[in-house]
Amino acid sequence: MLIIMSKTAKQSQIENIINRIEELGLKVHVSKGDVKTIIGVIGSERIITQIPLEAMHGVEKTISITSNYQLVTRDFKPENTVIDVNGVEIGGLEIAIMAGPCAVESLEQLILSAKLVKEGGAKFLRGGAYKPRTSPYSFQGLEEDGLKMLAKAREETGLKIVTEVIDSESAPIVAEYADVLQIGARNMQNFQLLKAVGKINKPVLLKRGLAATLSELLYAAEYIMNEGNYNVILCERGIRTFEDYTRNTLDLSAVAALKQISHLPVIVDPSHGTGRWKLVAPMAKAALAAGADGLIIEVHPNPEDALSDGAQSLTPENFNNLVKDCVLIAEALGRKITL
Ligand code: PEP
Ligand code: MN
Repeated sequence: MLIIMSKTAKQSQIENIINRIEELGLKVHVSKGDVKTIIGVIGSERIITQIPLEAMHGVEKTISITSNYQLVTRDFKPENTVIDVNGVEIGGLEIAIMAGPCAVESLEQLILSAKLVKEGGAKFLRGGAYKPRTSPYSFQGLEEDGLKMLAKAREETGLKIVTEVIDSESAPIVAEYADVLQIGARNMQNFQLLKAVGKINKPVLLKRGLAATLSELLYAAEYIMNEGNYNVILCERGIRTFEDYTRNTLDLSAVAALKQISHLPVIVDPSHGTGRWKLVAPMAKAALAAGADGLIIEVHPNPEDALSDGAQSLTPENFNNLVKDCVLIAEALGRKITL
């Protein structure tokens, strides 16, 4: 249930309601907007109705939400969520540019990638240290050594680090090094993992599952938020369809739809979304037009030598050119990319 407090509600009235609800053993989430405060109550509506909410001082109205996501919605929080990643925002006017190799392969490869994507305009360095690969015989990642290399790259370039967490066990160690925790497509419905990152005080980049509906993606985000971590970034990265020219089908209508339903920032991964480097730039530009708050792009100093996803990785030069185009598109959309 959502309790919409009136514009003039006093802090004491808000606290009074929260106390009454918590006395019943229910969990409360509070969204303090510029104008109104909204209280989300998790738990049985049958129990909540023991309190005459609509008669209480400061309450404008209540909205009953049964078996649905609520914390992710604009009903709960009408204004956009802007996430501050140690000084760099995601979800505000500035379009977030994340770039780097699919996997951390060596210190040399990573530092070179970091320097090149920074020159190209990225503010975030991506790179997997733990890689969820389709085949057990493929490169699985450098694990903690890779995390240390990411930290070194941050030290040298100031870029924020986005890296994947593949299980609850390794979540604390990844969180020690990362600025943003990435949940991969294959783990979007790993509910234990979602709960684990929900308890960590770091932003989470949640990728849409390979065959997940938008509703399932939003429920996954709700799992994280329900643990108290409201800093979730949704990522469209393509879904499985009958089309096999592209690795996945990048669903750009998802971007516009998610922005309508949810207050959370939405970014797009045109690399995994297409699987073909030649399609990355056009789809990245289309993503901005569709309303994306950012892009996450695979860039490798030598894509032909990449240990994973070389076919969809941009060269640094192509990445630079893409960001230059994106600057113009952002301007036309009333947004910006600061180089
Ligand atoms: C990745 O970002 O390298 C990755 C494995 O992505 P996804 O989970 O979207 O397949
Ligand atoms: Mn990849």
